[in-house]
Amino acid sequence: MEKEPLLMLPGPVPMPERVRYAMMRQAINHRSAEFGAVYSDCVRVLKTVFGTVNDLFVISGSGTAGMEAAVANFGRDTEIACLVNGKFGERLYKISQRYGKAYEIASEWGTPLNLGALEERLEQGAQIVTLVHNETSAGIKNPAQEVGRLVRKHDALFVMDGITSIGGDVVEADAWGVDVAIVGSQKCLAAPAGLAAVSVSSRAWERLCKNPPYYLDLAAYRKSAGSKPMETPYTPAVPLFLALREACLIVEEEGIANRIARHQRMARAVRAAAKAWGLSMFPKIDAKHEYSTTVSAISYPEGVKDAEMRDIIKKMGIIIAGGQDHLKGKIFRIGSMGAVGAPEILATLAATQFALKKSGYKVQGDGVQAAGEVFG
Ligand SMILES: *Cc1c(COP(=O)(O)O)cnc(C)c1O
Repeated sequence: MEKEPLLMLPGPVPMPERVRYAMMRQAINHRSAEFGAVYSDCVRVLKTVFGTVNDLFVISGSGTAGMEAAVANFGRDTEIACLVNGKFGERLYKISQRYGKAYEIASEWGTPLNLGALEERLEQGAQIVTLVHNETSAGIKNPAQEVGRLVRKHDALFVMDGITSIGGDVVEADAWGVDVAIVGSQKCLAAPAGLAAVSVSSRAWERLCKNPPYYLDLAAYRKSAGSKPMETPYTPAVPLFLALREACLIVEEEGIANRIARHQRMARAVRAAAKAWGLSMFPKIDAKHEYSTTVSAISYPEGVKDAEMRDIIKKMGIIIAGGQDHLKGKIFRIGSMGAVGAPEILATLAATQFALKKSGYKVQGDGVQAAGEVFG
């Protein structure tokens, strides 16, 4: 039997057996106490990983559906300032253009955000700010807490894509002043793709738009969640909810602090390997920005071809990511999110080291050894 490949991507990620088996069952009525309990388990655990006591809903749709729900419910016909330093920041800007008057505050991908320009835009009356906390395309972690402070100072709303940070890294939505936070199921939570969760603060509810979208109408989600048993407005993706519940129970059993520490260790190990090889991390960080805890973006050395190198790694049964859009061929990205740990990271780094050498790059030192020191 051929072994299934190990997905070391920034989503989707390998799912624990319990999560997979949770989906394998007969259909259940989504207007039943049984489904209500499933939904309520998800919400309970997700509130803890979001760091929120606000309302929280699970939407049938991938992370982007959650992003669109946030903008469409609160940003229609309003001025939206979009912080952009990668593909997903850009996506929030594109969504914002569809609903409101969007202003892009752009930096080069993987470089620090322009918070001075954000302040100016807030002074000029922007009512909503969008931020990607962990910019997956470039492996950079943006200063959410600082952005939250600026947004509050100007009494605007803060929409934060926490799609690849929530469940794997420190997120304190309420303490940071996040009004709408979003996560996707197939990233740090290690659940199947196809669900998004969205939290909504009371400040945000006060500014709900008058003409909301239909399928993603968050007020309808709130009404249904308030009924007994708890439910969703329309038929949810029940098998995915069953799997998400199991994934959430696993998060609860591990404990969020342990889970974050595990993610931090994995990222440190990948960075130690890159350093030993003599390769640079792609992001240009400063005192406010950090390397991502859940995906490491590493710049290719001169002469190593992306497709070739990742193909060698793939032949060893491991899938890592390349760069997106203009970063294609310039970087490779190793996901360290979800249910994986030292075994998967060490195998990935060993395969990557082999592939780098095979592609003609003379590694300076032993990256696997360096990573071992982090876990050892
Ligand atoms: C993956 C991702 C998304 C998009 O999620 P989909 O599930 O593909 O819709 C949005 N933001 C970030 C930061 C992501 O990594």
